[in-house]
Amino acid sequence: MNWLHTAIAKIEADYQRSADTHLIALPLPGFARHGIDLYLKDESTHPTGSLKHRLARSLFLYGLCNGWLHEGSTVVESSSGSTAVSEAYFARLLGLPFIAVMPRETSCEKIAQIEFYGGRCHLVDNPTAVYDEARALATQTGGHYMDQFTYAERATDWRSSNNIAQSMFTQMARERFAVPRWIVVGAGTGGTSATIGRFVRYQRHATQLCVADPVGSVFGEYHRSGNPSLTGPGSRIEGIGRPRVEPSFIRTLVDRMIDVADVDSVAAMHYLSDLLGRKVGPSTGTNFIGMVELACEMRAKGEHGSIVSLLCDAGERYLKSYFDATWTQQHMGDYAPAAARLQAQLNDVD
Ligand SMILES: *Cc1c(COP(=O)(O)O)cnc(C)c1O
Repeated sequence: MNWLHTAIAKIEADYQRSADTHLIALPLPGFARHGIDLYLKDESTHPTGSLKHRLARSLFLYGLCNGWLHEGSTVVESSSGSTAVSEAYFARLLGLPFIAVMPRETSCEKIAQIEFYGGRCHLVDNPTAVYDEARALATQTGGHYMDQFTYAERATDWRSSNNIAQSMFTQMARERFAVPRWIVVGAGTGGTSATIGRFVRYQRHATQLCVADPVGSVFGEYHRSGNPSLTGPGSRIEGIGRPRVEPSFIRTLVDRMIDVADVDSVAAMHYLSDLLGRKVGPSTGTNFIGMVELACEMRAKGEHGSIVSLLCDAGERYLKSYFDATWTQQHMGDYAPAAARLQAQLNDVD
């Protein structure tokens, strides 16, 4: 009991020392003059740099309170990077060894961050092998496989507890359209969309939930068909879009899916980075494309209201990939036409 109580107290004290993330109002006159306001909740300001900080805290508390984590337990996770960075932080806080099982192409910036927090990286060649490899490592070490893709939807208290959804609604309280018409998110685990979707229903808000999904991900097709055994190539936007239907993606909570091409995500990432004066990551670009599509529909129909989404992480993690012109040209092609299309939508010349 002693170790368990101390461990929970350490996480709670860390939370007590933390501040909430900002809600940024985007200056977009092409929408604002039509009575449509866009906002991004800036999740890049958590100590570990992304929205996965919230997930990692929830998963550790869930594991501790379920009796799955003990003094000396090796914590193992399958991750494309961001979750592992945040979990490494909490593992260090509790003095537990941490191993991240990741695809070999994971950015070296993320690997360096995991190692900075004392975690170990176990790289595998086949990205779909991360789940089995992580489970096997946990068995070998007598440790615990966190399994974010299964537990993300249930580890966070969706009713309130100052979760991301409650914070959004509180921060919107003094805006001209305080209850968002739409909330737009991407789905990696699906945990964020599940928390927001349940909260909105429980609070009986008129808000609808949209998931912006990159090409190559199966979530869009799963939303349409309900077939849980779908597989696909996976997405090229780090953090979102999956090659299989993850158990934490709860399709019945999502009102609308928008498929987003990679060039559009990259164009939006650059546009936002220029607008805000600091770099945002590619999944934030995907979110922005979803927001702009919905805002254009609202403008065409003469609807007023607000749209809220997330700034998931900062662009500094992607300097050698999405922010590198040669890399982007090679992996995604020319995004200049996508940038022009986006600019036209924002300028209100449709
Ligand atoms: C995980 C992640 C998301 C998606 O969040 P989920 O709650 O896992 O669906 C979006 N962007 C980035 C950068 C992420 O790491």
